[in-house]
Amino acid sequence: MVALPDTIPNLIEGQAVPPASGEWLDKLRPADGTLLCRVARSGAEDVAAAVAAARAAQPEWAERTPVGRGEILRELALRLRSRREEASEIVAAETGKPPELALAETDAAVEMGLFVAGEGRRYYGRTTTASMPHRTVMTVRQPLGVAGLIMSFNTPLPNIAWKAFPALFCGNGAVVKPSEETPASAFFFGELAHESGVPSGVLNIVQGIGAVAGAALVEHSDVDLVSFTGSAATGRWINETAGRRLAKVCLELGGKNALVVCDDADIESAARWALASAFSNAGQRCASASRIVVFDSVYEAFRELLVAGAEALPAEPVISEASLERILAAVRRAAGEGAAVLCGGERLDRPGWYLAPTVLEGAAPDAEISRTELFGPVTLLFRVRDLEGAIALVNDSPYGLTAAIHTASLHRAMRFAEKAQAGVVVVNGGTHGSEPHMGFGGVKQSGTGWREAGIEALDVYSDWKVVNLIADPVRT
Ligand code: NAD
Repeated sequence: MVALPDTIPNLIEGQAVPPASGEWLDKLRPADGTLLCRVARSGAEDVAAAVAAARAAQPEWAERTPVGRGEILRELALRLRSRREEASEIVAAETGKPPELALAETDAAVEMGLFVAGEGRRYYGRTTTASMPHRTVMTVRQPLGVAGLIMSFNTPLPNIAWKAFPALFCGNGAVVKPSEETPASAFFFGELAHESGVPSGVLNIVQGIGAVAGAALVEHSDVDLVSFTGSAATGRWINETAGRRLAKVCLELGGKNALVVCDDADIESAARWALASAFSNAGQRCASASRIVVFDSVYEAFRELLVAGAEALPAEPVISEASLERILAAVRRAAGEGAAVLCGGERLDRPGWYLAPTVLEGAAPDAEISRTELFGPVTLLFRVRDLEGAIALVNDSPYGLTAAIHTASLHRAMRFAEKAQAGVVVVNGGTHGSEPHMGFGGVKQSGTGWREAGIEALDVYSDWKVVNLIADPVRT
């Protein structure tokens, strides 16, 4: 088991700094409820110091070439790779997730870094012509200045990698506010960045509670961009608050993602994917399959496979006592309104925050549980007659992050891909799973239209400048 320091401080201007308040939060282990470490309970003063450090360090960082910045970020990715086991042990301790999942996520964070570093030798703009002779027009990317990066706990290293690598690559200074549930992996990443040659002040980490440290970062007048991954409720407040001073805001929010099983699907494969998308990481994925929409004629057969599979899965803890209580209360309310709990649904009698994989059926499409993201190991079964019924049900949601369909029909797959209201559609796979070169994000209340990862992420962390070059002013 990894030995963490007793306290996890802030990282400001390359230094480990205690919070100005002198106050610390307890961080408990989800796997058994014991104390893991104490976390800096930062406030506006700490945030202001971190923003000032980023502001001061950013111009020199932006003066470097994209190739030069890419080289440093590649070094960071490689160092993370060489310490992947240590990193993943920290993640496993903070989140309670299985070690192999924590390791796979660490590798995903490394891959994101390598992908972004490679942009150093691309970072393309466009050239075009103009109606005026001898004029060439080109577009170049500009850094924004200081980026405030706020993220969820669920996959802590990919969450930080998806934001910090492109933000820094584009020449910004950054202040990261990790989740209060995953402070140690963020601090580890920040220290590695410093050791890898990211200059002091370019990447700062401020720990603490969202409503205090996170809010102070959102409200700080010197933060040019707020890039947020988290719940729709927090995202709405961030958009309103940072929007008032016309800061750029990128929001990656929740989902109530549906996986459709048609009557021509390979239902064993569909069940395997549904189980992985619904229950891996204890269902704490923005892209988890929390609604499973099954054609009438295969409903019973699929339900049997899904429930048997769910019962065979080991329970993983959710992140906190509060989260577990919230999820259990939602399941109890749904059962009270007539939904049937086919498996799970109860707290397990052991230390830590465990709920066995839970499957419900019979919830109304407009019930609270059908429309609210639970962010836990709970999925709902729905029965539909045909593809059009499935598409209507999939789209009957405030969210639109990902959607999947299982079918042998090219026509059905294409129709679904066209009509599903989602930022990502998967045919014959899960609702979760993305790669560094694939833009990721959602529609409706799952986001505000930006895409993270892929070269699309560069649009979040840079502004376009159009440059007009008139080669021959005399003859023009
Ligand atoms: P959350 O909104 O409670 O917290 C997210 C982050 O915001 C944390 O760091 C938290 O401290 C901070 N925060 C909370 N209140 C704040 C405030 N008022 N001002 C500034 N910061 C504040 O969400 P969570 O429970 O950590 O994460 C779960 C949510 O994240 C789910 O909705 C999930 O779908 C979403 N998520 C989305 C994606 C995506 O890419 N779309 C990826 C992962 C998670």
